[in-house]
Amino acid sequence: MKQRNRNKIRILSIGLMLIVIAVCWIWQGGGWQWEQPITAPTVRTSHLSSHTDTESVGTTTTTTSTATPVQTENWRLMLVNRSHPMPEGYQPSLADVDGVHQVDARILPYLQQMLEKAESDGIPIRVTSAYRTDADQQQMMDEKIAEYLAQGYGSDEAEQLAEETVALPGTSEHQLGLAVDLSTADWNAMSAQEVWDWLAANCSDFGFILRYPADKTDLTGIAYEPWHFRYVGEDAAAIMESGLCLEEFLALP
Ligand SMILES: [Zn+2]
Repeated sequence: MKQRNRNKIRILSIGLMLIVIAVCWIWQGGGWQWEQPITAPTVRTSHLSSHTDTESVGTTTTTTSTATPVQTENWRLMLVNRSHPMPEGYQPSLADVDGVHQVDARILPYLQQMLEKAESDGIPIRVTSAYRTDADQQQMMDEKIAEYLAQGYGSDEAEQLAEETVALPGTSEHQLGLAVDLSTADWNAMSAQEVWDWLAANCSDFGFILRYPADKTDLTGIAYEPWHFRYVGEDAAAIMESGLCLEEFLALP
C-alpha cells in the first residue's frame, strides 16, 4: 500500500515536472505557430481559471498549472488578426441563426437575446454576415480584387487595396464564429446608423463588443466598422467602458 502511494507520488511529480517544462517552453516562444492566439490571452485571464487550476492539480502546485485549462476556458477571448492567424484546423461547432447565417453554437443564446431586446426596444436588426470559412474569405478577397481591377488598377495595386478592406483568409475573426455584422432589418423603421448606435450602447450587456473602433485602426489593423460585433463574454463591459480594443485589453498585465 505504501509502495503504491510512493509510486503514485513519483508519477505525479514526473507529470508535474513535464508540465513545468512544457509551460516554460511555450512561454519562451518555442510553441507551435498556432499556440500564439490561444496562449496570448493567458496573462490577462489567468485569474479566471485559478480556481480550477488548484482543484485539478492539488494544493502544492498552483504556479505551474495555469496553461492547461486556460485554453478551453479562454475561447471567448481568442485573438485573430493579421499577426494572429486562425489556429490550424480550428473548427467551431456551429448553430444556425436565421436560416442563412451560422455562429459558434456557444454564443447563439447571447446573440438571440441581444436581437430580441433590440426588437423590443423598436430596433429591428438583421445579421448580414457571421461565420465564414476560409473559402468564403478567399472569395470575398477575390471579388474585392476584381472590383479594383475593373476600376483600372494594376494587379499588385488591386491586391494591396483589397487587403486594406478585406482580411486575408485565415486572419478574419469571422472564421472563429464569434463575430457578426449587423444592420437594420427594416429601412423604413430604422437606419443602419440607429441600429449601430443602439448596439454600441447595449452590446456589452450581452457579452459583445464593438471590435473595430474608429480610434484604434492602427492597433486592430482594420478600418472602423460600426457594424462588426464580437462576442467576448463577461469582459465585454470592461472592454467597452475602458475604450480599449481587444488587442490592448489582452496585453494588459
Ligand atoms: Zn465583420
